[in-house]
Amino acid sequence: MPPVPQPKSEHYDVIVIGGGSGAMGMGRRAASYGAKVALIEMDGRLGGTCVNVGCVPKKLMWHAADTAEAIKSASEYGFGETVPKMESPKFDWNYFAEKRDAYVKRLNGIYDRNLENDKVEYISGYAKLIGNKKVEISLRGEDGEFNAGKHTISADHIAIAVGGRPTIPSEKDIPGASLGIDSDGFFALREQPKRVAVVGAGYIAVELAGVFNTLGSETHLLIRGEKFLRAFDPVLSDTLQEYMAQTGLNVHQKTNVKKVTGTKGGPLTLELDTGKMLEVDCLLWAIGRYANTEGLGLDAEGIKTAKDGSIVVDKYQNTNVPGIYAVGDVIGKALLTPVAIAAGRRLSNRLLGKPEMKDDHLEYENIPTAIFSHPPCGTVGLSEAQAVEKYGKDNVFVYQTRFTNMYFGMLEHKEPTVFKLVVTGKEEKIVGIHIVGVGSDEMIQPLGITVKMGATKKDFDDTVAVHPSSAEELVTIQPSARRNAQV
Ligand SMILES: Cc1cc2nc3c(=O)[nH]c(=O)nc-3n(C[C@H](O)[C@H](O)[C@H](O)COP(=O)(O)OP(=O)(O)OC[C@H]3O[C@@H](n4cnc5c(N)ncnc54)[C@H](O)[C@@H]3O)c2cc1C
Repeated sequence: MPPVPQPKSEHYDVIVIGGGSGAMGMGRRAASYGAKVALIEMDGRLGGTCVNVGCVPKKLMWHAADTAEAIKSASEYGFGETVPKMESPKFDWNYFAEKRDAYVKRLNGIYDRNLENDKVEYISGYAKLIGNKKVEISLRGEDGEFNAGKHTISADHIAIAVGGRPTIPSEKDIPGASLGIDSDGFFALREQPKRVAVVGAGYIAVELAGVFNTLGSETHLLIRGEKFLRAFDPVLSDTLQEYMAQTGLNVHQKTNVKKVTGTKGGPLTLELDTGKMLEVDCLLWAIGRYANTEGLGLDAEGIKTAKDGSIVVDKYQNTNVPGIYAVGDVIGKALLTPVAIAAGRRLSNRLLGKPEMKDDHLEYENIPTAIFSHPPCGTVGLSEAQAVEKYGKDNVFVYQTRFTNMYFGMLEHKEPTVFKLVVTGKEEKIVGIHIVGVGSDEMIQPLGITVKMGATKKDFDDTVAVHPSSAEELVTIQPSARRNAQV
């Protein structure tokens, strides 16, 4: 459905600012309770970061890279005549990017239709709070500028779900930094860079560097400390960092960029604080994201923000202003699509649902998540260090196993699989699961349920294994693999 040119009403039950995961979750659920809902999105397309420049196109790139891995193994699996043994199969980046973008466009259309079917009014424009629970909308014109007129609407409930945006260092801090791109720019690339530097140590940096490296670009990952993925249990970085280095990824530890010279889109020279110079064709900053709260008019309502610009909320997603809420990345916590959706839906349940839903809210604990690296990782619950902090060193134990998945058993090239269970107390309640290896991204979802339900190591031991699989090792970890916490 093309967006309505202007709002149909002056007052709504609910206004949702944003058209991404959190807004869609909140808006559609509110409408399902019969509320009159307006959803305002500035981008000209629905779906937000996840659909347009995040999870979805990223996962497709990961599948492409995974296919390259499979092709590399094909000759050893007997396809030697059809697929000659090669280091990096040729990949047509532009062809793939166009198919990927067409898929994303189809999803945008599905999101449009979902709103139409659910009777959520979609307004294409820039929203700004102007006080007294009023929102000023600058409507988006066909040229993408917000020049198609201004309207003011109000609501009983206003949910802010404006997400975040990637950061690039300032020219003052790093001269030439703007010659680089961010994760949005990654999805705009139409050619595969031959040599690329990715700066950052979070999961987005690791995932995008993994895609470049697996598809055959000379890839440099520049990290400030010694380890990447520091926010997770160290078993992930210990395993991945060692393995990815073997596959050709150049990890530059304790390295910062001092200066960048060259031309945008052309070769760049990075001056590093280690004294080295690095020549690349593409520099990608993946150093963090900031909440999209600038210019949103939070001051007009007196809404409190944290130092980093994210909106401060309580466990019910309430801001300090009654009737105004915030969900998703804009609160700066657990920046993940399913978190934004779940928080949005629960908020609508609480505000508009049945009486038994009056306490509905999202628990920000035990959130399972995957890192789409090569190989992928899955993680849920407490890291070993967090468990020690919570339960005390004497009450935390670890079961850890490392093996080679059968798929690699007969290949020259071996990819590691490592499973780690963090348990506590006499009953050995499982409080954290951290896994690396083929299939970890899929396994972690049901494993998340076990942690949520309070499963113990005995529950795992009592479960019959699925054979032959990698996952069976989770229920057959021997007592000899147990150790005390080492933090
Ligand atoms: C490269 C990358 C990979 C990722 N991979 C994963 C993954 O694998 N799994 C996962 O769970 N998460 C992943 N994420 C994170 C995920 O995309 C976000 O957590 C999720 O999109 C947050 O949803 P949101 O609704 O809070 O914000 P967003 O999806 O960012 O939506 C906010 C929307 O608000 C709009 N907006 C902003 N300001 C205004 C305004 N003033 N008026 C109107 N509209 C406005 C924006 O245009 C945007 O569309 C990834 C993110 C990135 C960048």
